[in-house]
Amino acid sequence: MERAKLILKALEERGYKSYIVGGAVRNLLLGLPQHDIDILTLAPPEEVESTALEKGWKVKKIGATFGVLILVVDDKPYEVATARKEAYGSHSHRPEYVEYTSDIMEDLSRRDFTINAMAMDLKGNIIDPFGGRKDLEKGIIRAVGDPEERFKEDGLRPFRAVRFAAQLGFEIDEQTYRAIPKALHRVKGLSVERVRGELERILVAPYASKGMDMLLKTGLAGTQCLSRGEGEEKHVDVLPELYHLVDLEQSRRYHTLDAWKHTLAVIDNTPSDLILRWAALLHDVAKGLPGIRGVNKRGELSDWGHDKKGAQMAEEILTRLKVSQSVKNRVCWLVKNHMTLPNPDKKSLIKWLRKQSLNFKSQQELSTALWQLLTLCRADIKGGMVNPNFSQLDEIMESAKNVLKSIPFYEEELVIRGKEAAEVLGKGPQVKKFLRDLLIRIQSGEMSNTEEELREALNRKARRLQKKREDLNT
Ligand code: ATP
Ligand code: MG
Repeated sequence: MERAKLILKALEERGYKSYIVGGAVRNLLLGLPQHDIDILTLAPPEEVESTALEKGWKVKKIGATFGVLILVVDDKPYEVATARKEAYGSHSHRPEYVEYTSDIMEDLSRRDFTINAMAMDLKGNIIDPFGGRKDLEKGIIRAVGDPEERFKEDGLRPFRAVRFAAQLGFEIDEQTYRAIPKALHRVKGLSVERVRGELERILVAPYASKGMDMLLKTGLAGTQCLSRGEGEEKHVDVLPELYHLVDLEQSRRYHTLDAWKHTLAVIDNTPSDLILRWAALLHDVAKGLPGIRGVNKRGELSDWGHDKKGAQMAEEILTRLKVSQSVKNRVCWLVKNHMTLPNPDKKSLIKWLRKQSLNFKSQQELSTALWQLLTLCRADIKGGMVNPNFSQLDEIMESAKNVLKSIPFYEEELVIRGKEAAEVLGKGPQVKKFLRDLLIRIQSGEMSNTEEELREALNRKARRLQKKREDLNT
């Protein structure tokens, strides 16, 4: 904040009114940490630039953004925007027309929500033309001006409303909320990257389940947005696959909640981590679908195979939403495996880890994945399970710690290196085969991962190979 004030002071000294604005003022009043501080000034960009140069601050220009410069003070970036007014046209998110203004109220009135439309001057005076402070106290997200107009101007704003509700635990003002369904057609022109950005911020927010529920109830999850790539543009679904979970009954033997309420509970039961939250959202996405929903011998509802089918659906959903490859792969793996945990006994656990090790590059990755899976399963059980019992999870966790500490699943973990084996056996496929054999024999308890035992095995192997060669020659 002190560095931002230096910028305000420098601009004010040149005679230009300047303010801290938007999220920084909101978070300051809420007592929350600031992650970026935006500055609003009446100085034109050239004046901002020359002020910065005079003070020795670096200036960065942002490509297409009108009148916004980034000033770097002590290595910290500050966005300095010249006050402007906007008019919107056919584009779903970008204004058609932008003009500088010398009236700060005009700039504040183009902002999305009352709590984001406050400015603070150097002395700490808050300029709050739309009652943002009162809404902060009441915990309300309210559009500045007519919500229908504002949402039609920019289709991203409804997602932002839900996102702020999920981040702050606020309610959306009734009139603002009711305007969302009327602006759904504007989502079509938004890029999938922007929509996914908001979805992911909702997912990791403290009130994520509230946000996800709002996405469904407002219709936002049922919209389509724009995906560009390889010279083509197409419309892709946001998250319509979630709707069939609402009110979907589940087996009463195991569950107290319907599938959507259960999904929301599982989200809340996971830590705020993108992979775990996506997995929580999608873990039961295939429940109730034709081909999956059935009735078991006891006449109870069943969803056999929802884990495998859910993983396929997750792959499709996360691909079209352009979620990063590494997040997508792990989420799909979690969804696929959430019903098939190993037994905690050492033998079953080793068998499971050996099979799963093929899906990962290192022991570190394998153990992180197992930890994530156990965390998801714990959240799943906590999410309305009849007679929740965590003892199996605890036992697996305990047993896995010991197994992963003492037993290798990757060649790099063997105490002898491939290079050493190649020196003795000669380069070729026999080296890899030998190392793989070692892993299997250590895992089965036949030998242990010590230099002595592995060297002995290596020498034995070398002697056998030598004998084979001699036999061939005679
Ligand atoms: P965060 O903590 O997520 O950064 P923020 O309020 O700073 O929250 P930004 O997206 O950084 O949000 O935007 C900064 C400010 O710009 C907002 O507080 C708001 O005043 C304004 N703003 C941003 N996006 C929009 C939009 N789509 N429509 C209207 N005003 C917007
Ligand atoms: Mg911000």
